[in-house]
Amino acid sequence: YLRTKDKVRTRDGKQDTCSFGTYAGYRGVAYGCIKELYMSKRGILTVMSGFSGAGKGTIVKALLEKHEYFLSISCTTREPRPGEENGREYFFVSREEFENMIHNNEMIEWAEYAGNYYGTPKKAVEQWLSEGKDVILEIEVQGGMQVKALFPYAVLLFVIPPSADELLNRLRARGTENETQIGLRFEQTVRETRYIKDYDYVVLNDDLDQAVDKVHAIIDSQRAKPINMIDEIRSLSRDLSKLIQESNL
Ligand code: 5GP
Repeated sequence: YLRTKDKVRTRDGKQDTCSFGTYAGYRGVAYGCIKELYMSKRGILTVMSGFSGAGKGTIVKALLEKHEYFLSISCTTREPRPGEENGREYFFVSREEFENMIHNNEMIEWAEYAGNYYGTPKKAVEQWLSEGKDVILEIEVQGGMQVKALFPYAVLLFVIPPSADELLNRLRARGTENETQIGLRFEQTVRETRYIKDYDYVVLNDDLDQAVDKVHAIIDSQRAKPINMIDEIRSLSRDLSKLIQESNL
């Protein structure tokens, strides 16, 4: 995969420079280089979004315990909740630090949510993907849409609760937000609903185990997509050509 400013060859053989991050070829900047773009298999990038309190955090936690996924740790300007640790749940940074990261192009995506900045640092995610590791981003919808534009092969999942009442119960039971903050997050759900149609899958979080298995099954099924079978396809096609040559077929 190419990065901004990488030198590439275009379809008609001319030299060009990528003007748009990874997946540049797919987006047409260096269309002719598509074969070279898929040099090696990359990990699967999954976006998990959902209403606050829908349980996506719980699903992700259970998923990581059962399977080998790599969870990106976001940066945020919100205050740590009791029990949260810098570098574990989030990297807690000041607004100034966050804005510097945006300015220095260190974020894959970022958004403002309930009065705070949240963003995905680029470095770890790109490193993991290039090593073929499967990465999960637990982010809200504006960020999800940015990832979708940038990584066309990312799989986007939206987690919903069984009902609005249940969502409110879960938020209250969590005890991490006061009633005003809960109100703010509830308002947010109305806005977020509009984005669900742009996601690839909706996961109903009624029974946790079932939801976890479903999420894993969805991600696992992405492995059968041609883009994720590129090494096998290439090797088979090479062997077929070789066999044809050697056996005078
Ligand atoms: P919370 O404050 O409850 O931890 O997170 C609030 C919302 O921000 C959640 O929907 C969470 O998924 C989302 N979020 C967490 N990290 C990121 C991020 O890096 N980027 C974006 N766009 N949203 C994030």
